[in-house]
Amino acid sequence: MNRKIKWIIASVLGLWLVVTLVWFGFDLDGKYSWVIGSERVAIPDSTITDTVVVVEEDDYTLYGIDTRDFEVVDGVVEKNQFLHNILNPHGISALQLDDIGRRLKDTFDVRYMKVGKKYLLVLNKDSARSVRYFVYEIDNTDYVVYDFDSTLKAYRGRKPIVTETRETGGVINSSLYLTLDEQNASPTLAIELSEVYAWAVDFYRIQKGDWFKVIYDEKFVDGKSIGVSKIHGAVFNHYNRDYYAIWFDYAEQEGDYFDQNNNCCRATFLKAPVKFSRISSRYSLSRKHPVTGVVKGHFGTDYAAPYGTPIVSTANGVVLEAMFSKYNGNYVKIKHNSMYTTQYLHMQKIATGMRPGVRVQQGQVIGYVGSTGLATGPHVCYRFWLNGKQVDALRVEMPPAEPVKEEYKEEYEKVKKAMMERLDAIKVPGVEQIASK
Ligand SMILES: [Zn+2]
Repeated sequence: MNRKIKWIIASVLGLWLVVTLVWFGFDLDGKYSWVIGSERVAIPDSTITDTVVVVEEDDYTLYGIDTRDFEVVDGVVEKNQFLHNILNPHGISALQLDDIGRRLKDTFDVRYMKVGKKYLLVLNKDSARSVRYFVYEIDNTDYVVYDFDSTLKAYRGRKPIVTETRETGGVINSSLYLTLDEQNASPTLAIELSEVYAWAVDFYRIQKGDWFKVIYDEKFVDGKSIGVSKIHGAVFNHYNRDYYAIWFDYAEQEGDYFDQNNNCCRATFLKAPVKFSRISSRYSLSRKHPVTGVVKGHFGTDYAAPYGTPIVSTANGVVLEAMFSKYNGNYVKIKHNSMYTTQYLHMQKIATGMRPGVRVQQGQVIGYVGSTGLATGPHVCYRFWLNGKQVDALRVEMPPAEPVKEEYKEEYEKVKKAMMERLDAIKVPGVEQIASK
């Protein structure tokens, strides 16, 4: 009997707590609108689907706060400046700071406040200029608001993101980066483009006169670009050959770039397991080992890179082994299919979650460059098996890129035709209009 009453009281209190937190924590006066992705959606009265609040801005509304009756001070976190330096002059006690640091840690951990980030103080118009709100910009889009009204609370918000679809193109005279820069395109477009074409075009060997056209999405916050979010389609003319790359969503959550011949733009294997590295030792049947001095075969390719450089799986596959051994150090071995297996040795650290049976994607980080096991300096030894036999990864014939699956072909043809027409219609000075193929 007693127990039952206690249980009922506990349930009621629990429910009250949840309702209070959800209601007062996130939507103080119910006027906010919510954004999912870049679309603005009005919140239905009683459904709360996300913890991120997005607010319509007007002249006096800053971060969703009506600032008309307050004094507003903005600033940038300086070197050696901490939360207490900013808030102490406005009468915030050590107790409240402790509350922010501990109780409200899940909303934002103030230890991660960074130099150069913007903040805003919203002060009461009293003699003490006491703080009503403190807003800290976590990144380009997200911010955290501390509301010092009676009970201190915190919530996160997100600025509206506007996505624009843009098109551009150019003839390359020096580098892709400079060509895009001349057109005031986002510098991240060069990076995105080089990723799309990583398998087809070597961006260090671009020929003068190569040209490209691209249709992409760019995101803006407060009217400022925060980068390219997606390339819908592109054509790269390299040594007078057209390389089309057309994004095709063939199933839910699954999509890829395919070319004009319906082949995937991505090769089955990446060229190397680390970016920005140099090959320090190639595969050879007789090599004097740098540590033991013994002449023995070197059945792998060594890529030297700084400690901690991410090592990625060169293809999709399943982890066979993720462990430490005396000679290999920390290593991961991945089976890609019945024919291909790869192995990555001497890791400083194996990435979390790597264990036998786990699926990995091409390009997924599986560990970090180190020198564990028998190694002189930081590098990854990359080993490649073809049908159970160790081979030189740099010489082995890689499987061809996969074409669009038969079942999606008809749909891709439509997507391809529409995108190629749009790309071909982009006018780039110096490039004659090419006929739709
Ligand atoms: Zn090696």
